[in-house]
Formats: sequence, C-alpha cells, structure tokens
Amino acid sequence: MELLTIFAHSDFRAASLQLFHDINERDLVAINQLIATCSVMLVKAGQPVIQAHTTDNRLYIVLKGELEVLSQEPAGSSAANQLQYLAGECVGELSVLDDEDQPHTVTAKSDSELLVIEAETLWQLIEDCNGVARNLLQLLSFRIRTTNALLRRRHKVGEFYRQMSMIDGLTGIHNRAWLQSQLPQMIERAHVTGNPLSIIMADLDHFKQFNDKHGHIVGDDAIQTAAKLLNSTLRPSDYAVRFGGEELLVILPDCANAPCFSVAERLCKKLAQTPVFKDDHSPLPHITASFGIASLAEGQDIFTFIASADAALYRAKKAGRNQVSR
Ligand code: GH3
Ligand code: MG
Ligand code: MG
Repeated sequence: MELLTIFAHSDFRAASLQLFHDINERDLVAINQLIATCSVMLVKAGQPVIQAHTTDNRLYIVLKGELEVLSQEPAGSSAANQLQYLAGECVGELSVLDDEDQPHTVTAKSDSELLVIEAETLWQLIEDCNGVARNLLQLLSFRIRTTNALLRRRHKVGEFYRQMSMIDGLTGIHNRAWLQSQLPQMIERAHVTGNPLSIIMADLDHFKQFNDKHGHIVGDDAIQTAAKLLNSTLRPSDYAVRFGGEELLVILPDCANAPCFSVAERLCKKLAQTPVFKDDHSPLPHITASFGIASLAEGQDIFTFIASADAALYRAKKAGRNQVSR
C-alpha cells in the first residue's frame, strides 16, 4: 500500500504516529487510502515549515528529523525545550481545525521528512475514523495543558520580577516604587476606617562626612545596618522602606502618634548603639539618625502626609540631630 511505502521509506509504522495510534484494522485501511494521496516534504535544517500569521491549513506529521517553534522564551529555559516536535508527532492541527492563522513559526531543527496532510484530507479522516478524532482531541488537551503550564510559569516569573522591582537592591527592604504603590491604599483605608496610620522618616546624620571619612563602601554598610535594624525592630505589620539615599521611612498601620513616637525613640537609641563594622579589629564608627514622625490627619494625601513627616525630621535636625521630633 502507498502508506506502507511511505512508512517503509521512512522506517515508520502507522502506530508510531501520534495521530494514528491505537486505531482498528478496518479504519487503518481507510486511512491508508487517504494518506496515499498525501505528499512527503523534505526540509533542510533551519528551513521554515510554517510561517507565523499565515493561513497554512495543513497538518504536518514528522516522519524523520525534528521541528521546533521559534520560541520567545530565553534560550535554555525549560519552556523553550517543550516547543519541539519529534518524529511521530504532528503540528499545525489548530489552524486546520479553526481555519485561523498559524500562531507560531515552525522550522526544521534538523533535516526532516514530513507527511503533509491537507485540510480536506484531515477533515475526511476525522469523519471516517473515530480513532483519529479521539487522537486529535487528546492532542488538543495536551496542547491546552502545555500552554496553561507555560502561562502559569510566565505569570510566576512576571510576579517574581514585579516583586524584585519593589525591593531595594542595597538593603533588601521595600523601595520607593513599593511605597508609591502601597501607601496611597493604606491612607485610603485609614480614612475610611478611621484607624490611625503613622510614619517615621529617618535620615542619617552627617552622612556626607561619614562617607568622606570612611569611604562609600563603609557608607553603604552603614545604610544596610540602619535598614536591618529598622526592619528587625518593627512589628510584622509595619513596613520599612528605603525612601532615598540615606533616608528610610517606616510605616506603622493602626498606630497613633504617641506610640509611634515611642517606636521612633527606641529606633533612634538602638541605632546610636549599633556598630557598623562586624570585624572586631576595626574601629567601630557609630551612626546616628534624626527622626520625624507624622500621623495621618483628615484629608491628607500621600504628599502632604510625607511632607509633614519631613517637616518634623527637619525640626529634629535643627534641634541637634540624633533625636525624634513630631
Ligand atoms: P544631615 O545630618 O543634615 O542629614 O547631613 P548629611 O550629610 O547626611 O546630608 P546630605 O543630604 O547633605 O548628604 C547625604 C549623603 O548621603 C550624601 C551622599 O553621598 C550620601 N549617600 C546617599 N546615598 C548613598 C548611598 O547609597 N551610599 C552611600 N555610601 N552614601 C550615600
Ligand atoms: Mg538626606
Ligand atoms: Mg543625612
């Protein structure tokens, strides 16, 4: 039979092809007759088989070689590896079934031999043979699951990068972008519920001098030390943010002005006692910071709220630094 000739030529048997596996003898005869009219296409490695966004309404069965989808995934990622079609597998079935454009460009990864099944022939196969329809349904559900897994992975990767973009690289605490995305919501919630919301703005004292004296690397260590201290001293419901260079901001939800002042005083004292160097042989320069606190007033938005903490910070600086002002 013609089909056998094709398979003999390609060292393949019908059962080894995804589309024709597990099909009864009677149906296989009908399949063979239809397949006898199909052509076999030879493609060299690198040659395109399917062009994205074209209406190429054919199904290709890989008899020999290997095809691959030109992937937008980074090379070497596991997602990229899934977009390959090995001998026995087929590609292009979606565009035959829904008569829409091809979604991807598919090229030959190595010299390949493809059985080309035109749309009318595939529809005829589906009509004549339940087994082919069943195999196609199985194939489509496999494609849906693969696509879903890919989308889930992309979503996870996207979420990872989104989270990363909200974290300060030097200190590991939240950054300004996070503040801009979260604080307005907290302010709105506080206005609606009437619960208090307080912030502490901290700025390292004479930090220019500190950098000049100890160098920028030690300066970075000092900023890290201050951020770590803030982060580890707070309640789990509080947030530490690197507001700018050596300016740190703490958000205390459900915290009124008086307790917020106590928290800031505690932070101020602790920071002044914290050494920057971990190395015992080195001198231990200490850092201090000035703190300005503010509690959300009626009608305040993010700008006026932060401005009031900034104004308090300015007063702490003016009063001699290493202290808290409200
Ligand atoms: P004040 O007590 O009034 O706050 O004095 P100051 O010197 O700290 O204030 P100023 O704002 O004039 O200087 C801040 C300095 O912080 C300047 C800059 O070199 C330093 N700085 C800002 N970001 C970083 C950083 O990421 N790493 C280091 N090492 N230094 C930084
Ligand atoms: Mg500053
Ligand atoms: Mg400063």
